[in-house]
Amino acid sequence: MSRPELVKKEIAGIAEYVPGKSIEEIARKYGLDPASIIKLGSNENVLGPSPKATKAVIARAGDINIYPSADASELVEAISVYTGFPVENICAAGPGMDGLLDNLMRMLISPGDEVILPLPTFSYYEIAARANGAVPVYVRSGDSFAFDIEGIMKAESERTKIIFLCSPNNPTGRLVAEADLRRILEHTRGLVFVDEAYVEFSDRNLSHLIREYDNIIVGRTFSKAFGLAGMRLGYGLMPAWIRSEYMKIATPFNISVPAIVAGIASLSDASYLQRSIQCARDGRTFLTKNIPFRVYDSQANFVLVDVAPLRSKDVSEALLKKGIIVRDCRSFREAGETLVRVTVGTPEQNNKVVAAFKEVSATI
Ligand SMILES: *Cc1c(COP(=O)(O)O)cnc(C)c1O
Repeated sequence: MSRPELVKKEIAGIAEYVPGKSIEEIARKYGLDPASIIKLGSNENVLGPSPKATKAVIARAGDINIYPSADASELVEAISVYTGFPVENICAAGPGMDGLLDNLMRMLISPGDEVILPLPTFSYYEIAARANGAVPVYVRSGDSFAFDIEGIMKAESERTKIIFLCSPNNPTGRLVAEADLRRILEHTRGLVFVDEAYVEFSDRNLSHLIREYDNIIVGRTFSKAFGLAGMRLGYGLMPAWIRSEYMKIATPFNISVPAIVAGIASLSDASYLQRSIQCARDGRTFLTKNIPFRVYDSQANFVLVDVAPLRSKDVSEALLKKGIIVRDCRSFREAGETLVRVTVGTPEQNNKVVAAFKEVSATI
């Protein structure tokens, strides 16, 4: 029995978020040894967490009967030191940056408001916005997935509430140019959410613009460069007026005790962060040069591969059978049928990835 009429109508047309595949799932499906599987489908940190974070979590394991501090102030202090912004500009958030997005959508969207989505991009924006009654307005990117800035500005209407810009963009790896972001901030009547989940791997960031504009929010995460995807920890940088409103509606105690201490410990481990960044940068240069298909320039810890004339479905399945998990991008709106996203691995993993792509390309 089911009674779908009880669920609010905004939910009906939403397609479920498609995550990268797990090691357990692939081991079972293809009869592989889980220890032999290389997981490069979710852009996690392939070096594991910082040992300092692991130690901090273990040290606090006896305290999990106690609620964390409501505003995670000790973590916010540490983020303030790391980013150089005062605590008035920082909201720590859980679960992950996705939790920040959820709270923001609850705070900002009234039914019928429009959100502008340059495509292809991270699919959770659309889910979080539509669940609150937003109407998505899509803007397809141009050649080589360059953001269509004119198109984004033309999509603006009386109802525009949020423009989502992911920089570096998932799944394309492209940055938003600062001059373009300034034009959009000055043009829109709404807010711009700049997703910098991968910013540590890139040459530039855009967060300084929160000092100049009152309508920008920058989202960050500990899931990628800081290696804490399993902790579900993120944060936002924003003008103080937005933070004040946000704090009114944020889910109480949304960051767990282990996540708070792991976050603080990770921020204190500068050499781990440096190693993670170097590993991703060296590896992405190697993959870009050696994968025998078109590879787009990336500023993140993944590369986007166009496997045409092959199909992404067939190529990702061929790699899965060899125990390499990559991301078939068909679940990204407007990504087509030939794109595969590969997380940059360790040097040893990258060699295996290149060898696997070469075997697949030999079948053309
Ligand atoms: C991974 C990712 C996130 C989600 O981060 P969490 O903090 O793990 O929720 C947000 N945006 C983009 C573009 C991502 O790739």
